[in-house]
Amino acid sequence: MPQNCLYCQNKAALDALMIKIADLEVSTLYLFKEQTHPGRCVVAFKDHVGQQFEMNPKKTYLTEKEYASIIEKIKAQL
Ligand SMILES: [Zn+2]
Repeated sequence: MPQNCLYCQNKAALDALMIKIADLEVSTLYLFKEQTHPGRCVVAFKDHVGQQFEMNPKKTYLTEKEYASIIEKIKAQL
């Protein structure tokens, strides 16, 4: 596991930048504290992955499905 991963190994830095909103099936939703762009968030895969192409297709699909669901919910609130 790389030592410079914000999500896996730098909890203090992560907490300084973002607020954890929800644990989903394969990902975690974080909201940026800095909200110049309202609703700016990150959907982070729960396991460490260096590049998206390293994920297996099923997990990529589930992550994209969760991402789409979150976008729908944020858009409904704007
Ligand atoms: Zn990581």
